[in-house]
Amino acid sequence: MEETESAKKGYAKKILERLKRKYKSELHTHLNYSNLTQLFVAALLSPQCTDTQTNKVTSELFARFSTFKDYANASTKTLQKYLSGLNYYKTKAKHLKLASKIIIEQYNGRVPKSMKELTALPGIGRKVANVILHEGFGINEGIAVDTHVKTTAYRLGLTKSKKPEEIEKDLMSLFPKREWGNVSNALIALGRDTCKARKKECERCVLNDICQSSITRGRRIQAAKEITKEKAKAED
Ligand code: SF4
Repeated sequence: MEETESAKKGYAKKILERLKRKYKSELHTHLNYSNLTQLFVAALLSPQCTDTQTNKVTSELFARFSTFKDYANASTKTLQKYLSGLNYYKTKAKHLKLASKIIIEQYNGRVPKSMKELTALPGIGRKVANVILHEGFGINEGIAVDTHVKTTAYRLGLTKSKKPEEIEKDLMSLFPKREWGNVSNALIALGRDTCKARKKECERCVLNDICQSSITRGRRIQAAKEITKEKAKAED
C-alpha cells in the first residue's frame, strides 16, 4: 500500500518537474492586474469566463475604479454596465459591490489573506481564493482547480474524480504544499498547450511517454505487443 502511494508521488513529482521546465515562464495567473485590489476584482470576475474575456472587461473597469470604496459606492447598474461582457455579470456586479463593502468595513479596505476569510465573501469560492492567496500573497492553502486542471489531472490519472473539491484533495495529497500554486499553473499551461479538452495533442506533449491517456504511449505499447506476438509466432 505504502509502495503504491510512494509510486504515485514519484509519478506526480516527475510530471511536475517536466511541466515546470517546459512552462517555466507561465507559472502565474493570466489575469491582468497591477495591485492586490485589481487581483481580487479580476479573480472574483473570472469564473465561467476565459482570462482573455475577463482581461478585456477589467481593462476598462480598472481605468474607472481603483479602490474598494469606488466599487462599494458605485450603483449596481453602473457596475453591470462595465461587466456586461462577462457571463453572469448581474450576479458578479452584486457580489463585487457587496464584497467591497465588507472588505472596507471588516478589513480596513485590505484584501484578507486566509481561505476562511476569503471564502466568507460573496462570489469567492475555493478556486478564486486559491488564486488570490497564491498570486497575491505567495500562500498555498489549496490548489486552484479550473477546467484545465480538471481535464489534465483526470487524463494523467492524478485523480479519478471529476468534482473540483475532490480533485483538489487528491492533488494536495500527491504534491508537497510548497508546490501547490505551481501545480495549478503548470496543469493550466498544459491544458492550454497540448492537453486541450476538445483535442489532445499527445505527439507534442512532454508527458507522452508516461501519461496513462497518451495516444503516443498507447501506440508504442500496442506496437511492442505486436512485435512480441510476431516473435512468438516465428518461434513456433
Ligand atoms: S500525453 Fe496526451 S493525454 Fe497525456 S497529458 Fe499529454 S496531451 Fe494530455
